[in-house]
Amino acid sequence: MAQTTDVLIIGAGIMGCATAYHLAQRGVGVKVVEKATVGAGGTGRSSAIIRQHYSNELTARMALYSLRVFQEWDDRVGGDVGFQQTGWVALADARNRAGLEANVKLQQGFGIRTSLISADELRELVPGLEADDVGAVAYEPESGYADPHLTVNAYAEAARRHGATIVVDCEVTGIRMAAGKVVGVETTKGPIDAPVVVNCAGPWGARVAALAGVEVPIDSCRVQVAVFRRPPNFVTHPVVMDLINGVYLRAETGNLTLLGSIDPGEANAVVDPDDYAEHSDAAFEAEMGEQFVRRYPPMELSESMGGYASLYAVTPDWHPIIDELPAGSGCYVCSGFSGHGYKLGPAVGLMTADLITKVSGPEFPAHLFRFSRYEENAPVRGQYEYSIAG
Ligand SMILES: Cc1cc2nc3c(=O)[nH]c(=O)nc-3n(C[C@H](O)[C@H](O)[C@H](O)COP(=O)(O)OP(=O)(O)OC[C@H]3O[C@@H](n4cnc5c(N)ncnc54)[C@H](O)[C@@H]3O)c2cc1C
Repeated sequence: MAQTTDVLIIGAGIMGCATAYHLAQRGVGVKVVEKATVGAGGTGRSSAIIRQHYSNELTARMALYSLRVFQEWDDRVGGDVGFQQTGWVALADARNRAGLEANVKLQQGFGIRTSLISADELRELVPGLEADDVGAVAYEPESGYADPHLTVNAYAEAARRHGATIVVDCEVTGIRMAAGKVVGVETTKGPIDAPVVVNCAGPWGARVAALAGVEVPIDSCRVQVAVFRRPPNFVTHPVVMDLINGVYLRAETGNLTLLGSIDPGEANAVVDPDDYAEHSDAAFEAEMGEQFVRRYPPMELSESMGGYASLYAVTPDWHPIIDELPAGSGCYVCSGFSGHGYKLGPAVGLMTADLITKVSGPEFPAHLFRFSRYEENAPVRGQYEYSIAG
């Protein structure tokens, strides 16, 4: 006999687990089915940078809400996710100056602690950083990064405490529909009946949607991260989003720094999410090494520690699809967060739970992320070219 649940969530990344937590907290019966382990997808390898700089009021407000959750994690969700408030800076050249300034003004308007600082103030904040080419700098003192494994596991644990079940090593292989409504799923551990199914499958999002006969534009793209050990006298540094050279730098424990690309072209390599090279390429490591030293010359004494690759779930405008598809079917998609979903996870969990439980006047309405925006030619637009910059 099939098991039953009120809501069946496919995928135990940050989106699946945060949504499960918010639903279970409301007394909804939730089962999360994960084909590997909790955090096995993009979440587990996320650089987990937390900043509030977005070009749209909704995404910026979601980032601010999520920051507060990261800051007060133990009181609000439970446990410790290793939030490090290192501060965050964005470096822009003359081309992006106006956009950066407009964003900062927008964000200040609803309480984000952000400001424009001078190149000299930047040099004081990060001694040794090269700033001669910088035309404008945005600074968020409250931002930083956290540990993505601790985060997704803390959400999974909090969901369990409220009665949710998380089944790992269990793949959803089919979605059963009857008269236009979902009635359940087939899994490698047997069928599960559910009137609501949520696709939180990240880079596998298009494949899972196809099980319900729905086609969504979500590509699974390989991206790389290079790791360097800093010289011992450089204990940590703020997160640097270098819009000029298209890279980010963020500190990691053990005197390490992670470097990755924010150039949308970097994430053009569409791959099979079940079969791709999970190690980084030597050429990428060398290029990131050069970028590191160019922006931060004292890092000439840093040591390359290799790197790794993982997956972005990339949509045409680099923003997610959060919608019921088809309308009225009970099938929801919450996927396609490209390279910037982690920091939004707490707000997305709330947004998706509100959408499913049909809360009127939700704090974060999902309308901006509706699927139909693509055929309406109304993609989510930011100040910068599509990328994790948002
Ligand atoms: C290298 C890298 C760096 C990043 N850096 C940042 C950053 O600094 N800041 C930031 O905000 N964001 C960042 N991101 C983006 C962020 O990590 C992702 O947007 C977010 O983690 C996506 O979470 P998710 O839950 O949607 O997907 P995932 O974490 O990929 O989870 C999807 C899950 O679904 C499961 N699944 C798939 N198919 C099935 C099936 N048929 N049955 C059962 N389970 C299934 C998978 O196994 C997987 O566990 C980064 C991502 C990467 C890869």
